[in-house]
Parts: sequence; C-alpha cells; structure tokens
Amino acid sequence: MDQIETARKAHSSIRKYQQGLGFDLNSSPIILNKPRHQILHPIGSKSEYQSPICLKTLSSERLQRIKENGLIPENYNYETIEREVPGRLWEEWGDHDLLMEELEIGWMPRSKWSRIPLFQHHADLEGRSPTCINALEVAKNRGYYVPEEYLSQNNYISYSEFLAYRAAHDLILNHSLDLGYDILLADWKEKLMFFTGQFIIPDPLNQNKTPYIIDQLWVIRTSKTQVRLIGLEIDGEHHFQSEENILRDRERDLRLAAIGYEMYHVAGWWCRIDPIRVIHEFLQSAGIFPDAVNKLKGSHLQSIDEYKCGICHQPIVRHDDYWLQQLEYRDSIVIAHQSCGENYWNEDHYDQLD
Ligand SMILES: [Zn+2]
Repeated sequence: MDQIETARKAHSSIRKYQQGLGFDLNSSPIILNKPRHQILHPIGSKSEYQSPICLKTLSSERLQRIKENGLIPENYNYETIEREVPGRLWEEWGDHDLLMEELEIGWMPRSKWSRIPLFQHHADLEGRSPTCINALEVAKNRGYYVPEEYLSQNNYISYSEFLAYRAAHDLILNHSLDLGYDILLADWKEKLMFFTGQFIIPDPLNQNKTPYIIDQLWVIRTSKTQVRLIGLEIDGEHHFQSEENILRDRERDLRLAAIGYEMYHVAGWWCRIDPIRVIHEFLQSAGIFPDAVNKLKGSHLQSIDEYKCGICHQPIVRHDDYWLQQLEYRDSIVIAHQSCGENYWNEDHYDQLD
C-alpha cells in the first residue's frame, strides 16, 4: 500500500472511531496522562553475585508453578542459576523480577544493540513486534499466574501499538536517517539502558493475579548510580468508552507506581497518523529528550486534520521517517508527501538547469 493510500485509510479510521465518543479525536492532545513525579532507582554494584535472590524472594506458590513447568532441573543448585542471570534481560523476554535482579547486579548494556532484547531486533523487517500472547506465555512459564483461556484469546497488539513500537525501535537503532543529525546524534541515547515492548509486571499486591503487560518500557540512566523506569501505554479509543475502563487504568498506574514505574499514556489514534511525533512528544514530556518535538519536521502541526500535503492536498501520515517532507512551495513552508516533494523538487531543479 502506498503512502497516500495508507494516509487516506488512517485518516478515515479517525472519523469512524469518532462516532459516539464524548471528545474530539482530531484535536486531542498526544500525551493523555503523565505522572507528577520522577521515581529514581539505585543501580547496585555487586561484582560477585552472591545471593540467589531470583529464587529466594519468590512466593511459595510461584516457586511451585515454576517447578511444575519444569524450568528448574531436579538437581538444581543456586550456583548454576546465579551464573545465568547477568545479561538475561537482553537475551530473554523482560519481566519485573528479572529487571530488579539485573539492576541489583549493576548490569549495563555493552552496546546500542544490547539496549533492545535480541529477539526484537528484526521487528521492523516483517511487520512483527512482540505480542501480548507471547508475553503471557513467557509469564506463565516463569511462574506468574495466567489463566489458560488468556493464552487462547486473540491477543495481538493493536496497529497503533505496533506503529509506536516500530517508531521507537527505529529511532533507538538509528534506522530513521531522514530525521536529521540533531535527532540521530542526540545524547539521550547514551542514557538509554534498555527498551522493550510487552514488558511483564506482576501485581504488587496479589501474586495470584494475571500480571500486567505494559506496551513499552524505557530504562533511562539519570546518573552513574540511578535509573528511571518509564512505562508507555498506547491508549486506543476504547479506553474512553466507559468510566469503568478509565478507573481501571488509573488504578493500574497507581499499583505500578508503588513498585517504581512512571506510567505515561499517549493517544493511540495519533500513533496511526504520526507515531514518530508521538514518540518524540513522549521523550520530551518525560524529560528524556528536551526540545525533541521542535527538532522534527512538521512540529508546528496542531491537529490531525492539519496533516495534509501542501501540494496535492491529500492526507499525510508519517509511519516512516521520510513520509513527511517539509519544503518551501509558492512562497510558504508546507508539508508534503515524499513523492509530491520529490516531483516538485525535480521540476524546480530542471527549471534552474534550463
Ligand atoms: Zn502530496
């Protein structure tokens, strides 16, 4: 599907979902909710990893479930399990307990590649990203309580969440070359310790409840000895259909804050229009990348209906960095499709050659 056709579909989906909602999607803010405070966590420095906290701190019910799943060999000893822990966050699916262990040891990613889990590196190639159903399977194998019926449900992530995931992934790995050096070389990337989709967090008050799966987790170093754990949720239109949904989200944020997660919420509908802008608004709002939005082309656009090509007047979306161009056209600065911009530039260029 080409860029203009994709844009038409995305814009018409906004009009479709608008029906019956009590607020205007078109002019809604991108950041829907953010925490009031930052929460800092210490990074440990255990050079010798001595206490096998990974097993000792588990509840007996969870330990029992892990044994039932056959993850602990019959003749296990703490020694073997201890040694396998450092770096597991990168090699395997992330969960809260694993992250806490890694922080205690003081694990640091060695390169930009090890900031994103290994199995997520090719998420951009085939349109895949980590799915909720995989996360729940992993959670179950690690002894978290997951009812069987959850595993058979169609739990694929939404299109909005996929686009937001890919925008973040490509930005971190510098795949988005068209965004320019101000963005590619920004120094917040040095502070990013870890990024993942579909991160597993158990309910802090009830180990016999299905764990939460958050859409994105960003671990940001604030100093040599401290990090912030920042969760990003992509809220679809359905989140706002009932008061009950809104209250459930708020309660979840409070529970997650109690164990140290700062939860941000962004508008899923904006992710279908400009996921790259959404990620930059989030980075700016969370204080990770100050002034991020101003560095983007089209940062002056205030509402979804302003995403229109100044040359052909058709709708625009920015699912990839080069899909939205900004240029001078008939004495004003406009945004344009990649193809419209290229055609105009070529004509203009040939005029000059004549
Ligand atoms: Zn155009």
